[in-house]
Amino acid sequence: MVHSCEERRDFWVMLKAIAGVKAEKATPVEDLENKIRTEVVGRIAKGLMKLAGDNGMGIMDLTLEESKKENPNIPAPSPNGEYLAPWLETDFCTSCDECIKINPNIFAYNNDKKAYIKDPNAGPYSDLVKAAEKCTAGVIHPGLPADKNGPDMEKWIKRGEKFN
Ligand code: SF4
Repeated sequence: MVHSCEERRDFWVMLKAIAGVKAEKATPVEDLENKIRTEVVGRIAKGLMKLAGDNGMGIMDLTLEESKKENPNIPAPSPNGEYLAPWLETDFCTSCDECIKINPNIFAYNNDKKAYIKDPNAGPYSDLVKAAEKCTAGVIHPGLPADKNGPDMEKWIKRGEKFN
């Protein structure tokens, strides 16, 4: 980043020289620091806005991308936005076993004994909601089922809402 800033400064000096603009007094270090800080913050904000754009789907896509590295079977959300894949914040799992006890086909531990979603389709949607309710770390997000016609589905979706 510093290198990029230095390059831009040099380019600016060169442009001024070409245009015949007289050299100004040297910019005080604090001014330069402020300019750099503003530029860096601007770039970070722009990146975050890009991620959060489209109702946060950018962040969702990024999360799914990461999850798919662990498990390529995770389905992508449907374009109409009705389906929302479940996700789990693996890094914050406290290895309490609750989700694994509810459904070891959906949930599994990685090599660091942190839970992840092995196969979201390996059990009913209600298992995802039950696991979210039991999770001691609050890191399970059940998403929304692709098929909303199952028994008591409305009730399970309602119960799962606060974890998404
Ligand atoms: S219930 Fe939550 S904290 Fe416990 S193992 Fe599963 S993901 Fe980790």
